[in-house]
Amino acid sequence: MHSITDIVVVGAGAAGVAAMRLLAKANCTSLLLEASPRVGGRAWTVMPKSELHVDLGCGWLHSAEQNPWVQVAEEAGVSIDRRQAAWGTQYQNLDFDPQEQKAARKFLRDWNSEMLERPPETDNASDAALRAEGVDRWRPYLERVVGAVSGKRLNEVSVTDFINYRQASTETDWRLPEGLGHLVASSLPREAHTLVGIPVTGMVLEPFGVSLHTRSGTLRARTVILTVSTNVLASGAIALPTELTDWRVAASDLSLGCNEKVFLEVLSPLGFEPETQVVGNPRSSLTGAHYIRPLGNNVVESFYGGEAASEIWALGHNHAYDFAINELVRLFGSRARANLRPLTISGWKQDPWVMGSYSCAAPRKSVSRTQLARAYDGKIFFAGEATHRTAFSTVHGAFLSGERAAREALDALSV
Ligand SMILES: Cc1cc2nc3c(=O)[nH]c(=O)nc-3n(C[C@H](O)[C@H](O)[C@H](O)COP(=O)(O)OP(=O)(O)OC[C@H]3O[C@@H](n4cnc5c(N)ncnc54)[C@H](O)[C@@H]3O)c2cc1C
Repeated sequence: MHSITDIVVVGAGAAGVAAMRLLAKANCTSLLLEASPRVGGRAWTVMPKSELHVDLGCGWLHSAEQNPWVQVAEEAGVSIDRRQAAWGTQYQNLDFDPQEQKAARKFLRDWNSEMLERPPETDNASDAALRAEGVDRWRPYLERVVGAVSGKRLNEVSVTDFINYRQASTETDWRLPEGLGHLVASSLPREAHTLVGIPVTGMVLEPFGVSLHTRSGTLRARTVILTVSTNVLASGAIALPTELTDWRVAASDLSLGCNEKVFLEVLSPLGFEPETQVVGNPRSSLTGAHYIRPLGNNVVESFYGGEAASEIWALGHNHAYDFAINELVRLFGSRARANLRPLTISGWKQDPWVMGSYSCAAPRKSVSRTQLARAYDGKIFFAGEATHRTAFSTVHGAFLSGERAAREALDALSV
């Protein structure tokens, strides 16, 4: 307990794992501290049935051509599915005829053009939508799309943030049949000194570096890399020195949205074509996108975001299962009901170590990402998806931020 560790990494999500991978090659002592009983954070693959891997959190390798997890997977010999996602399609045009789909897509394009070419002075994504033709008709549709990508309502989203992400990302999205969460957790080097089930409850600045308080005692570090989510940081769950008030404020500017998944087992695949998608109700914001039999598995993955996820999950997991099944029955007919069974479900908002899905800057607060990524006095370094200026909200943004913070900490220690 009296020795001083060179670098303590707090949080074993994708950012913490990436930091530890880099530190494993450096000539310093390091320790990874994780509050929950497992490694991976918002990357979490579960197996609700044998041979079936599903990701409760991240599942897609977005911007795959530039995604560092692709290289990690390739080096580990993990297979990658490079098929194009069925997003944006409506299987058999169910309850969404081609003319309507065309009109909805045009509205999304117009809204994007407004944000790029005439960004509103308020930096509010809702104000850009008000100028796009067809807003009265397509606003609920847009709310669902924005809810999926940001976890927030349209009027809570910064235009600058949205554009920063769009301009740096590509349209290529790949998957891992064995689960992205599994890759993240298994990428932590075996030799990395890791303690799970040890929440950090407070940090105190010291002449030698930082004292970290945990329920099992106090640890001493020369430097700390803090990777916890913005909602955890803003919540005060970790008592921080007053010198870090600006970081806590930045974290609340970048709060996590609400995105959740329901997985349903498909008992008989008849009528459910693999690798297809349907939106439950294209004319409502309280609806989800249902990915039918992803990778050929007998499962429906229903994804809810923003307002829909908040409202549906507030009524409990059984309600969320019923909601998803009712949406599918409405589209596929009453016989679908007997064919679908609840399998597993996420609960990110309630998870005390995460408290939401992914970060989204409030209007005029995109700049807070730069504030949050700044180091404090060569002693405390910040990582995590929210600290990446353009790849926020992703598992690759988390990876890149973890590597960046690890390099900064090594520089500060001059090792
Ligand atoms: C439903 C959902 C779907 C998603 N889909 C995708 C996708 O398809 N593609 C994609 O790229 N991204 C996706 N994401 C986002 C992606 O999962 C995250 O951006 C990424 O995993 C965040 O990693 P992180 O290391 O920054 O944070 P986290 O994963 O939150 O890691 C932080 C860690 O800190 C720990 N911690 C918290 N408090 C303490 C404490 N007091 N002491 C010690 N440890 C603590 C937590 O338990 C956690 O393990 C999705 C997320 C969700 C929720």
